[in-house]
Amino acid sequence: MSADVILKDVNKVYPNGFHAVYDFNIEIQKGEFIVLAGPSGCGKSTTLRMIAGLEEISSGDLIINGKKVNNVAPKDRDIAMVFQNYALYAHMTVYHNMAFSLTIRKVDPVEIHARVMKAAEVLGLVPYLNRKPKQLSGGQRQRVAVGRAIVRDPVVFLLDEPLSNLDAKLRGTMRKELMQLHERLNATFVYVTHDQIEALTLATRIVVMKDGYVQQIATPKEMFDNPENLFVAGFIGTPPMNFMQGMIDEAGEYFVQDGTGLKFKLTHHQEEIIGNYLGKKVTLAVRAEYIYIDDAHLAENKESQFTINVDYTEYLGAYNLIYGNVGDEAIISKVYNRQEITDKEIKACFDMNQVHFFDVETTKRIR
Ligand code: ATP
Repeated sequence: MSADVILKDVNKVYPNGFHAVYDFNIEIQKGEFIVLAGPSGCGKSTTLRMIAGLEEISSGDLIINGKKVNNVAPKDRDIAMVFQNYALYAHMTVYHNMAFSLTIRKVDPVEIHARVMKAAEVLGLVPYLNRKPKQLSGGQRQRVAVGRAIVRDPVVFLLDEPLSNLDAKLRGTMRKELMQLHERLNATFVYVTHDQIEALTLATRIVVMKDGYVQQIATPKEMFDNPENLFVAGFIGTPPMNFMQGMIDEAGEYFVQDGTGLKFKLTHHQEEIIGNYLGKKVTLAVRAEYIYIDDAHLAENKESQFTINVDYTEYLGAYNLIYGNVGDEAIISKVYNRQEITDKEIKACFDMNQVHFFDVETTKRIR
């Protein structure tokens, strides 16, 4: 495999002095679907715009297809970009919207026709080629915007929140279409979103950013199972991960919750990695999916039990979400139990094999 896009120590400092991106490093392989995710203002659009050439790189190197392109104009970069407000030309038909960028590049008309027709087929737009944008649905317009990028046959597709103007149902459909499109084109995608569901479903690898810094680069599964720090742990996954403050006892056998004194027996693996934290404060983290209330799990996990004081529950058909607290700390549990839950106090347990501990000061996962 060869890297299509390489960012080496890329920084962005805007003219007003604001440092928006710090030391961004990644090697993106051909055919990857990279999702840049993170809260508003974290620097994901700035990063994408630097790859596109719409923002200058303050320091570091950007390499596309083996060539350093820091100072290459956007149109010569072998990229095509799809924006959130896909800005189709209202007076042009779907066909001409897709053909336009090739026409101004003076590509041979026979070639243009072939490329537009191929893109239209891939995107299911053949029946709409003679329509104007206003005669299309939101999803169809979005597809035309993608079509304009496809006809360019770029090395890299750059997409900046392309689905955020669509309603929830259409977003779901378009997500699926984008996934299939990526497979069919076998091209490299770099995609910006603040939506962690899009990140988990679309990405081959996710880059989570915060305040201009990359927090973690990993596959969706790795990021979900093994978040690097508390920020990623809280950002990826719905409902968000549960956190509990406490300390490791002097013998390194138990986590003891602040306030309640509740004790949770560490696994052998946890005992091995927790050596530097004996008698020290740590944050326990566990996903809502790994808190159980059924008899079988309670019997198996006798030394990691507690009582949830229930605030309310949400019955969602296939599962229940239990919102409550343990001591002063809020806890959300997702239980695959098809009964509606009405109890105000529920006995529960953690599967300690699925529990992570984080350093309180560095916020990094202890491993
Ligand atoms: P959003 O999801 O809101 O678009 P983002 O993660 O894409 O957020 P960016 O647009 O990359 O964020 O912006 C990163 C930071 O850089 C923000 O704090 C933003 O205010 C700042 N910023 C963006 N453009 C400029 C500019 N031209 N001059 C100075 N600061 C800027």
